Parts: sequence; C-alpha cells; structure tokens
Amino acid sequence: MSNVQLAPPETCRQQSTAEERLLRREIVHYTRALAKGGFAPGTAGNVSARLAPDRILITPTGRSKASIRKGDVITVNMAGQRLAGTASPSSELAMHLAIYWHRPDVAAVIHAHPPVATAFACCGKALDRVLCQEAAMTIGPVPLAAYATTGTAQVASHLLQYLPDHDAILLANHGAVAYGPSVEKAFHNLEVLEHLAQVHLIAHQLGSPVYLEQDQLEALQRSRHAYLIDRNRDTGTAFSDAPPYL
Ligand SMILES: [Zn+2]
Repeated sequence: MSNVQLAPPETCRQQSTAEERLLRREIVHYTRALAKGGFAPGTAGNVSARLAPDRILITPTGRSKASIRKGDVITVNMAGQRLAGTASPSSELAMHLAIYWHRPDVAAVIHAHPPVATAFACCGKALDRVLCQEAAMTIGPVPLAAYATTGTAQVASHLLQYLPDHDAILLANHGAVAYGPSVEKAFHNLEVLEHLAQVHLIAHQLGSPVYLEQDQLEALQRSRHAYLIDRNRDTGTAFSDAPPYL
C-alpha cells in the first residue's frame, strides 16, 4: 500500500511475548495451509491477526506463502506503521486494517485467490443466494465488492458497505477475503467459501439449482442458535450469537 508510513525497524523493535509467539505460529500454520490448498499461487494472499487493540501482525509482501516463518511476520499499528520486522507488510494492508477498524469483533483476516470463488468474482457473480444448508449455518450469502486495483485504498473502500453483515466477501476480478474471531475461524470461512463456490458451479452445471426458501433459512437459524447454546454449555464458553448476516 503506497500511503503506509514505515517506521525504521531498529528504532521500534519489540520483544515478543509468549502470546505473540503463539499467534505468529498460528499465522504461519494457516499461511502455509493457504499455499497447500491452492488458495495462494505464487506470492498471492496474506494473513493477519489482531495482537492487541492498537496493533496487528501481518505477513510480508512478495513472498510465497509456503515459505513464511514466524520471524517474517510484521507488526504494524492501526495506522499501518511498522513497529517490528524488516520486510514490508502485505500490499493489502489497507484492506486488513479497514476490516479491523470496522469490525471490533474480528481477530484475524485472510485474503487469498481460491480458484472457484475467484472465478465467480471474475464473472461478476456474487454467491448471494443460499443454495445449501451448510451456507446458512456458516457464512451465509456472500456479496461481491466492486472492482478495485489491487493494493490500493480503493479495495478497502469498496468493502465497507458489506463489512457489518458479512464474514466473507468476493473481490471483483481478484479473489476473496474472509475474517473471524480467530485465525482458524477466518481460514474456515475462506475454506467454506471456496467449497460453496464449487457447489454452486456444479449445481449450475447440473441445471435448475433449488435455492433455500425464507422459512427454511429461518428454521436453520433457529437450529444454529440452539447448537451454539448446547456447544457453549458443554465447553463452558460464553454464548456466541448468530453470525452477522442473520
Ligand atoms: Zn490478491
């Protein structure tokens, strides 16, 4: 991103805490999973995670996602200034920051080029009609953000209208972005998006796909709500409400 100010790393390098080391390890794990899954060809794709209210960790620009190590991950503040690390942060830093600014509940963001979802984005087709129950129980309808030149602030500005109600968005003629309360959940949302794109593609090839009706969607929402209550009772975790699209 051209307008990000990079602070000299030698003046502001920080010590890693145990929590930061774990988060770096998690970022590396899912960054490599992107490469392994064919979601990030060449040097495409980037992963970030919220380290603290005022800073995030993000992968460097121009690197294969198969070779990222913990020490390669860069710390930036919420204005995009580098706080630690020697490489330049991802060229899509502005997109990541916009999501953290507008979604305080989000702790991780992943941008990638999963091939089938990207093909939908290249045909101007949103996945905004729910075709199978899995979609209703997970990421819901997926909108298509308008075309923007990669690595510019325009990418972020075209996402803004969709951020409050969606956890996965297609980027026209580009790829997709997904996010969530952890790196693992952000990756799952991206993985589910690619799977749903494959289902839509095959359903259209077979002909006459049958979309879910509103009453079916509402029943699935009630079922998901009950599942979350049961799961959180079992695990002792706080109840997580319905996803933002509901
Ligand atoms: Zn991209």
